[in-house]
Amino acid sequence: MVTENQATFHPTEYLAGVLRWLRKQPNFQCYTHTRVVGIHEKGVELLGMGHKSVTVHTEAGHMIQAEHVVEATGIPLQRLSVVAELGYYRTYCIAVRVPKGSVEDCLLCGTGKPYKYVSLSACDAQDDYLVVGGCGHPVGQADTAGRFEVLEQWARERFPQAGKTDYRWSGQLVEPTDGLEFIGKNQGNNKVYIVTGGSGNGLTHGVLAGRLIADEIEGKPNEWAALYSPKRLGGMIRALPSIVKHDVQLNLAYERFLGTDIANSADLKPGTGGILNAVGHPFSIDVQG
Ligand SMILES: Cc1cc2nc3c(=O)[nH]c(=O)nc-3n(C[C@H](O)[C@H](O)[C@H](O)COP(=O)(O)OP(=O)(O)OC[C@H]3O[C@@H](n4cnc5c(N)ncnc54)[C@H](O)[C@@H]3O)c2cc1C
Repeated sequence: MVTENQATFHPTEYLAGVLRWLRKQPNFQCYTHTRVVGIHEKGVELLGMGHKSVTVHTEAGHMIQAEHVVEATGIPLQRLSVVAELGYYRTYCIAVRVPKGSVEDCLLCGTGKPYKYVSLSACDAQDDYLVVGGCGHPVGQADTAGRFEVLEQWARERFPQAGKTDYRWSGQLVEPTDGLEFIGKNQGNNKVYIVTGGSGNGLTHGVLAGRLIADEIEGKPNEWAALYSPKRLGGMIRALPSIVKHDVQLNLAYERFLGTDIANSADLKPGTGGILNAVGHPFSIDVQG
């Protein structure tokens, strides 16, 4: 099957462009290496009366007061609600050299299992990179060994011109249980917005999120708002059976209930991992209503 009229963009060039634009905006400030540990919506707003605002707390003890907050942290910081409606998958990638012009520049997506995809990226004057990805599995629930080798063999069988493999890496995908990204007002909040569950399309969805959330803050109707709304789950009660199932499945897979290896993700040394359970979790967020 061929899908026409597709486009690609370079994520870091796109991000650099967004930052260049932001720097020209009045009152724009950017703080790097600043960890947020809590987001709290305060005040009462009912039938257009009263007022709510948001306070963001940083690890260093600073507080930021804001009218609206967008939590674009990959996975939202709160313990329950939407977080429990997400599945976490590890995915693998390799970049293999191919002579320039020997592979057509298009996106190929497999239909077989395990899922694989191919794209092309510039390398140097002689070669392009064939980026081959896939072989994903639920986080912590499968053997991670041999995944790169499967990708490499699969690529070499189909692209005999494939040369040296220069890069291998893996990353995490976050998938909502109903398959569609959560973009908009967080469950239980009126002034806190989240963007999460991008699956393999979070860059594309990030562009869409910019428009959707800006419209929501400015009170402009957007026909896609309801489709992507994190509130589409209808609240915690309706989501409870799948939340419990999901949590039990995860805890069984990690062979622990309520146990925790570390108190803070910042305690992890490079190249190590650990279980951080919600008990004693340093993050907090208000969920009202
Ligand atoms: C191998 C791979 C291939 C992919 N391919 C594609 C693709 O082809 N197309 C596509 O559209 N998508 C793709 N994706 C998905 C896409 O990369 C992600 O969905 C997207 O990057 C998510 O962007 P984000 O800004 O929402 O979150 P992130 O990129 O995760 O950024 C979140 C940021 O928040 C920061 N942060 C987290 N917690 C805190 C805190 N407490 N305080 C302060 N800062 C915090 C993090 O440091 C990070 O900088 C791919 C993903 C993988 C792993």
